[in-house]
Amino acid sequence: MAQQEEVFKKLVSHCKEYGFVFPSSEIYDGLGAVYDYGQNGVELKNNIKRYWWDSMTLLNDNVVGIDSAIFMHPTIWKASGHVDAFNDPLIDNKDSKKRYRADVLIEEQLAKYDDKIDKEVEKAAKKFGDAFDEQKFRETNPRVLENAAKKAELHTRFAKALNDNNLDELRQIIVDYEIVCPVSGTRNWTEVRQFNLMFATEMGSTADGALKIYLRPETAQGIFVNFLNVQKSGRMKIPFGIAQIGKAFRNEIVARQFIFRMREFEQMEMQFFVRPGEELEWFEKWKQTRIQWHKALGLGDKKYRFHDHDKLAHYANAATDIEFEMPFGFKEVEGIHSRTDFDLGSHEKYSGKKMQYFDPELNKSYTPYVIETSIGVDRMFLSVLAASYHEEELEGGDTRVVLQLPPALAPVKLGILPLVKKDGLPEKALEVMNELKFEFQCQYDEKDSIGKRYRRQDAIGTPFCITIDHDTLEDDRVTIRHRDTMQQERVPIVDLEAMIRKKVNMKSLLKELKINN
Ligand code: ATP
Repeated sequence: MAQQEEVFKKLVSHCKEYGFVFPSSEIYDGLGAVYDYGQNGVELKNNIKRYWWDSMTLLNDNVVGIDSAIFMHPTIWKASGHVDAFNDPLIDNKDSKKRYRADVLIEEQLAKYDDKIDKEVEKAAKKFGDAFDEQKFRETNPRVLENAAKKAELHTRFAKALNDNNLDELRQIIVDYEIVCPVSGTRNWTEVRQFNLMFATEMGSTADGALKIYLRPETAQGIFVNFLNVQKSGRMKIPFGIAQIGKAFRNEIVARQFIFRMREFEQMEMQFFVRPGEELEWFEKWKQTRIQWHKALGLGDKKYRFHDHDKLAHYANAATDIEFEMPFGFKEVEGIHSRTDFDLGSHEKYSGKKMQYFDPELNKSYTPYVIETSIGVDRMFLSVLAASYHEEELEGGDTRVVLQLPPALAPVKLGILPLVKKDGLPEKALEVMNELKFEFQCQYDEKDSIGKRYRRQDAIGTPFCITIDHDTLEDDRVTIRHRDTMQQERVPIVDLEAMIRKKVNMKSLLKELKINN
């Protein structure tokens, strides 16, 4: 773990050094849990958004997009339950004065039992070699069973406390399991309190009677309140979905781990409206579709797992998270929820407007049920970067840092490098670039040795570099170098476009996906 933390630190400084992510307002010492994306970060982020958007709206002819406003009528947040229930349980350590989420402290304790079990398994696997039967070991080893039983016991108690909203019991669990503050190392805890995560502001001047409004904590409500607008204007038939990408804001209690938990972040959400009674079938379908979307990136199938919710939100009848193995453990990147008819029903009640759909096949009206897929752009960004970051030892004792980004997501697709800064090579290089830049993000670089220039492109994950040398002027061929293998080959300039496109275009990635129609 210590080594992983080291890697994470390096990743954070890499992000700054190479223009991916900067702390916001840095010259004023930053602003807690707010970040800015730099010149390479914004390209990577846009590509992630494009991959998601196209997978939703191009591949599913019954999914369309919208872009709703961040400001919304305050009653929306009353109807959605956010005013009353969008809370996290917080607890303070009296010695360190640090604040924690009580549920997170307990989840970390649960993860410790898993770690202990994994260590036993690892030890035994080493000892028994090929003859090792992992499943049997997990089912019979006394230490594994003991830890599994302890975990199950804590888990049952924790889930009950959450479902009962029992804050005293959450605190009691922390006391009983002797959970200490990671900073002070003490167990000197305050009571557990609820804390609402919404940012509020005022709209209009006080003279007019200002309206208290909220910065949206999720994009989903913009979709719900536009459900009938889209359905009617697009003549949509159930089942159909509405997708949206946009900013969301949460006054997180503990904002740690870089862009994993931010106070201003971006979500990609899709609400899929279905007939009541068919929602669990669609929930399963979207679960599979979404995990496939992640795995198609080729970051490693073992890095993903589903985590079913212990506490279902007040609106849900099924919920799961897709977790990704971050440098600090498996963490939620996406949530998939079966939200029943809660939101539409509630908006109907609060607004007094009908939110029903007339189903011509069934010849009746009903409030549709909703499956939601909700993913954070920034968490996705972090997972892609974490899995792509590699430090490699090269022959001759050299090292390189390379971002093995999925080519379709890479900020720059092609580095264009004249071998020397003279003899007409820069001119030739720019000529090639002026042809290719309509399709690919290209970066021209003529400074320093070729080796150094390759390293700079490796560090931002550029899948290809071409060098233009004296022979190019004669034969119209260039040397193309592949990022991951570092292999080089000589190719005609006229073949470049097709060759690069095949590897970096979004279409190849999208073609790997199954469609949900
Ligand atoms: P967590 O339990 O980690 O606080 P959540 O379950 O509250 O997350 P959802 O409300 O399901 O999250 O939001 C959907 C997605 O939005 C999450 O899977 C995550 O990717 C992203 N997200 C939520 N909160 C944040 C945040 N503070 N910073 C960055 N991304 C976030």
